[in-house]
Amino acid sequence: MTYSISLMGRLVWLICVAGILPVSLAGQARFEYWPGASYDPAVPTHRKVLGHDAGERISSHANLMKYLETLAAAAPNRIRIFEYAWSWGGRRLVYAAVGSEANIRRLDEIRAGMRRLADPRRTPEAEARKLTASLPATVWLANGVHGNEISGPEASLLVAYHLLAARKDKVADEILANVLVLIDPIQNPDGRDRFVHHFQQSEGLEADPHPLALEHSEPWPGGRTNHYHFDMNRDWFALTQPETRGRVKALQEWYPLVFADLHEMGSDSTYYFAPEAVPYNPHLAKDQRDSLEWFGKNNARWFDRFGFSYFTREVFDAFYPGYGASWPSYYGSVAMTYEQASARGLLMRRGDETVFHFRDTMRQQFVASISTCETAAQNRQKLLENFYRYRQTAIEEGSKESTREYILPRRGDTSAVDKLASLLAEQGVEVKRATGALQNTDKQYPAGSYVISLAQPAKRLIRTLLDANVPMEEEFIKEQERRRKKKLPDEIYDITAWSLPLLYNVEAVASGEVSRGSFEEVKAGSLPPGKVTGGKAEVAYLAPWGTAASGRLLTAALRENLKVWSSDKSFKQNGKEYPRGTLIFKVKESPPSLHESIQKLAAASGADVDATNTGWVDEGVNFGSRHVLPFRRPTIALAWDQPVSSYSAGHTRFVLERQFHYPVTALRARLVPMADLSRFDVIILPDQGMGGYSQVLGTAGPGKLKNWVAAGGTLIGLAGATSYLADPKVGLLAVSQEERPRAAEPPKKPDPPEARVAGKVLAKEDDYEKAIQAEKELPDPVAGVLARARLDPDHWITVGLGETVNALLQGREVYTPIKLDKGVNAALFLGPDQLLASGHLWEENRKQLAYKPLVVVQREGRGLVIGFTADPNFRAYVEGMNVLFVNAVFRGPARARPGAGTLLEE
Ligand SMILES: [Zn+2]
Repeated sequence: MTYSISLMGRLVWLICVAGILPVSLAGQARFEYWPGASYDPAVPTHRKVLGHDAGERISSHANLMKYLETLAAAAPNRIRIFEYAWSWGGRRLVYAAVGSEANIRRLDEIRAGMRRLADPRRTPEAEARKLTASLPATVWLANGVHGNEISGPEASLLVAYHLLAARKDKVADEILANVLVLIDPIQNPDGRDRFVHHFQQSEGLEADPHPLALEHSEPWPGGRTNHYHFDMNRDWFALTQPETRGRVKALQEWYPLVFADLHEMGSDSTYYFAPEAVPYNPHLAKDQRDSLEWFGKNNARWFDRFGFSYFTREVFDAFYPGYGASWPSYYGSVAMTYEQASARGLLMRRGDETVFHFRDTMRQQFVASISTCETAAQNRQKLLENFYRYRQTAIEEGSKESTREYILPRRGDTSAVDKLASLLAEQGVEVKRATGALQNTDKQYPAGSYVISLAQPAKRLIRTLLDANVPMEEEFIKEQERRRKKKLPDEIYDITAWSLPLLYNVEAVASGEVSRGSFEEVKAGSLPPGKVTGGKAEVAYLAPWGTAASGRLLTAALRENLKVWSSDKSFKQNGKEYPRGTLIFKVKESPPSLHESIQKLAAASGADVDATNTGWVDEGVNFGSRHVLPFRRPTIALAWDQPVSSYSAGHTRFVLERQFHYPVTALRARLVPMADLSRFDVIILPDQGMGGYSQVLGTAGPGKLKNWVAAGGTLIGLAGATSYLADPKVGLLAVSQEERPRAAEPPKKPDPPEARVAGKVLAKEDDYEKAIQAEKELPDPVAGVLARARLDPDHWITVGLGETVNALLQGREVYTPIKLDKGVNAALFLGPDQLLASGHLWEENRKQLAYKPLVVVQREGRGLVIGFTADPNFRAYVEGMNVLFVNAVFRGPARARPGAGTLLEE
């Protein structure tokens, strides 16, 4: 057949673009996604299963599943559905393998073949040649990771239908002969349904193209994110969400050679596909960058033919490994992002007055998907060979570069070390655990330490995730500096620092030598259980503080109404050092079942507990000291809804609820001024979004919060909330947000301003540069770096932690340190030469951030105000800040005293 668009197709197409036809085309000329195609009537259409044509409605997750399952039932020899995860909201995530009958019959063989090809150590070249000659190319079409990006999921079902039903279609036949297509229709079902529900609720008599119409304007938190408001296109290496974890596992079963992540962008745009924008991650292989061109060019060919506008090489880069367009690259895939201008509903009017329909956006996604599969079909063998070579060269590079191994010594926050090892294993990195003492060069590491050899297929992923820094191209940085000077926004799309050891605040030793010792393989998810040493205690159980595991032990104990004390001073007993913050469970003040409870909780939390038969200590404070304080079981409120940043609120709730298993009450922010807050022990104000807290909490909010704190509450502000608390009109935190430092005081301006000013000679370019600087402005925004802060070793909020923590900094907030008479700078950024742990930080910001606070604690009456100037729960990445945050939430209330009484100094 030819590819010319039939006259009718073209007519319908043009009319639709012009928005003349009514929304429903039922009974009239059918909208054609692949003009001229004829279809096998035995394969059910959208209309037959869901009662309307594809694109007439925006399908819920349930309807997407229903149609996919009906297709599978109608053509069981050509399509197979695999379940890979469940969302928090209880929705199923699946992918469908669509292919020729021959390929569907040999799915197990294909999967096994890809696994063989993935390990050149087990698979010699001769066997690899046989595999590359016989295996199909595998393409994974991932859709709807952002739930309000609606065209991909619908289009993906059309791709399945087209491949199953198209008759004598040259392109479809070529794809089926050479490619196994893995269709992941909806990566974020909770977000999708949130969008669809809102859309349906907002609909009126007819679809409204006005961009401001309610149906296009989503309420907080929007459909982009999942249940805990995670942007799952940032979760790929952190794997905090079940949806991502399931997908990463599935990808490692198939190693798809091509991974296309189909998104949507702003409505006034067109369509974006590969090649990507700079900067490129230096750990990408040249083959991968070259093959992006094949896919881009073929997409362009089809888009030109159909008259679709598009762009490449702008905006969307793949530097950072948290995207779907980048993470699969590090096992050897060709990973790409596609971006379609969104209708965000059924009809949308652009700035240039043209109106487009949801169907049009689906069609472009459909064409891009088919074109991608066609490119893979035409390059089948080359893609397979490149994949094998990618894995082979990774091993070679790792065997000869100066870093041969990464060692994760098992000390400090041991639960973070264990979690990091497991996280790496989960994404295909081979990790070994030393079963005894470990020797590398002349250094000894404790038993249980982890070793990661670079001589393995995942070498480039290891370097990307464990190196302290992944540099951006110098030319790119130069260009950003040029832009910054002119106050043009920078072109860095996401954060510039994500090194996992730094995020986890654990050591990672790069060694040029291979370790000696005995090892076992680390399996994903195999975290060591905690245990009780010393049998049944007569006096107390002691749990050293400073790990997420001990945090989970605390929260679980509080939920079981066990009495827990904490020592603010370190002590030594039976020859063992117990750090500040050690948890103490006193036998005589607990129920008789304490021993069984502690055993159960230790095992579940992963915390190690010691039994002791004496209250006598060799050094430090006893269990009855005034430095040993009881915990309360706090009731926690978390500000929710406008003006709260949905991300910060969701991530904070996730950290407390899913990492520490402690419930929070989500409290609509606008209720704060009128609600009875007395039942809450802790109120957390997450980062703020548009408008800010001052707009929503109004004039009554600050007084309400102040009285509540004075009566014994613990108020915690995160990131932007700190600027609200510090606002002089609010007056809850005695720090100030800083502007950019000025080189010199500006000359005094007459008041009122005069029409003319005195002349001034600008003798040099430099004088001109100074003359155009704004008099007052915030520091330049930071794209996302890791910055080191030192901890005050005398303050209770730092118990269990080492000397420093790393904070993930984004944005333009810098605060003055708090004065000694007002409070404590419990965490303070290091000096200008030490503070940057990773990433790209502008010179001026680095200088200004030095010696500025990360955490301030201020007493107000009987309560406390705690300000975190950077969000400790950012994307739940910063494992190393967990203990600090848990200290604030659970130790704050133990120090706030609603019942009056004397206050201990801290
Ligand atoms: Zn997106």
